Amino acid sequence: MESIRIGNGYDVHALADGLPLWLGGIRIDSPIGCIAHSDGDVAIHALCDALLGALALGDIGKHFPDTSDEFKGIDSKILLARVMELISKEGWKVGNVDITIALQRPKLRPHIDSMRECLAGIMEIPMDCVSVKATTTEKLGFVGRGEGCEVYAVALLVK
Ligand code: MG
Repeated sequence: MESIRIGNGYDVHALADGLPLWLGGIRIDSPIGCIAHSDGDVAIHALCDALLGALALGDIGKHFPDTSDEFKGIDSKILLARVMELISKEGWKVGNVDITIALQRPKLRPHIDSMRECLAGIMEIPMDCVSVKATTTEKLGFVGRGEGCEVYAVALLVK
């Protein structure tokens, strides 16, 4: 019988003027970006935590500490690729993932398919197994005030 495991991930980064905005592996044209030790790709960080969580391998901070110079400014796609190595080493593959990005602005819809394609490529799964959804929070809370970006991710692993 096929084994399955499920994991969920959550991450938040604060936003500030003049920083690059990376989400789902894509550089998005935006006057604001995430404050971070890495490139601040909060969508990939939540996804990594979902993948690690499925195998109870801890979290992204355990594997890639933000106190380490090795990870300063790092492209989060490299972190995702490293997480995929951990998963593959244990004989697991990604079944599907579902990611929800909460951001007040800019609008993400034009970039959704580029993110899906990018993430599917790194995880070596078909694009229709990668869901990326975006929502505002109707101007409520820290997301709604434009102070931060919040991401939820769920991943199913199969063996
Ligand atoms: Mg993060």
